Amino acid sequence: MSSLPSAAADLVDAHCHSVTVADLDDAEFAMLCTESSLPPAPGTSYLHTPLMLAIRRWCAPALGLELHAPIEDYLARRRQLGGLAASRRLLRRAGVSALLVDTGYIADQLAVPELADLAGAPGYEVVRLESLAEELAPAVPAQQFPERFRRALRACGERVVAFKSVIAYRHGFDVAPERPSDDAVIESVTTWSRAWAASRPARVTDPVILRFLLWEGMTCPQPGGRKPRPVQLHAGYGDADLDLHRVNPLLLTGLIRAAQRADGGPLVLLHCYPFHREAAYLASVYPNVYFDIGVAVGHLGPSASTLVGEALELAPFGKLHYSSDGCALAELFLVGALAFRQGLDKVMGDWVSADEISSADAAAIRATVLAGTARRLYPGLDDGPGPDISFTGPQDTPRQDEA
Ligand SMILES: [Zn+2]
Repeated sequence: MSSLPSAAADLVDAHCHSVTVADLDDAEFAMLCTESSLPPAPGTSYLHTPLMLAIRRWCAPALGLELHAPIEDYLARRRQLGGLAASRRLLRRAGVSALLVDTGYIADQLAVPELADLAGAPGYEVVRLESLAEELAPAVPAQQFPERFRRALRACGERVVAFKSVIAYRHGFDVAPERPSDDAVIESVTTWSRAWAASRPARVTDPVILRFLLWEGMTCPQPGGRKPRPVQLHAGYGDADLDLHRVNPLLLTGLIRAAQRADGGPLVLLHCYPFHREAAYLASVYPNVYFDIGVAVGHLGPSASTLVGEALELAPFGKLHYSSDGCALAELFLVGALAFRQGLDKVMGDWVSADEISSADAAAIRATVLAGTARRLYPGLDDGPGPDISFTGPQDTPRQDEA
């Protein structure tokens, strides 16, 4: 019998990407289920992982299959429905009430309004700092880049609720903490321009420019001169081109202190696994640090509740928020949402059973982590939960318009 997380909770997915609604073949689907871009080792498969157990658990019923349906049956059913109808069902079942979408990663996916329509929840934009710089830099003289970048950030409108930095991918967190001077940035952009003149697209990896982008994001006022938006930082777990040992968030300690002194906006450490305890420590001692455990919850499959429990060990509960880091596959949005809620329910249930906390405490912690932190942190999210999406079992009748 399926055990489903408790329903009727406001759930903000505070960091995700968009989806593809293409009809995927099995090999394409498998490669979207791993953070690796490399083929699997001989005798192994990306369809035989903890994440795939979670997909068979949480997603098979959403497509009208039995719980734990074999992956071959799942993929056949997905093909039968088509990418668009399957994605709609999966996104709706995730039951999120808002989506914060990083738009700087893959271009050939749904635009934010289309994703929001498919998911039945409002969508907001997270602007990736490096993508903006790479678009702008080849179009302006190097001497003008710092000021033109500042102007581009200030031009971001109300639907942009955060910025995002991938300095983790492009260099690592072992950078000098201070804001670089404009002169130093201009010198680095001049050097960078020789690289993009030789081969496009322009890809920023220079640590001076990357620090500049991060500092500008942390200190750019919102429209109307309001305080800066949060900057989301990829930390920990990610693709095979990441040097994981250089993205332990503890390496950011100097920058966090400098940003605190400069009264910069909040820093949100995303994903963090296996450094989620380090991230929780930073969140517990620095007021400007928040964190989440997105992406890893889904990939840990049956072990998700262990990770949720560890994330709840130390930091104030108002420093942790939910995100799926869903990307390309709608399955990742659904698995993220239900595995996180299930894990949270389990941890809270254990604490209540052991008389560590009251039921009222558990309800308050759940509400904070699922949505309260995000609604307090990100500006302009519409108040309250989205559409009333109830959780039903595997016998759910397919909707006419989705079949
Ligand atoms: Zn992401």
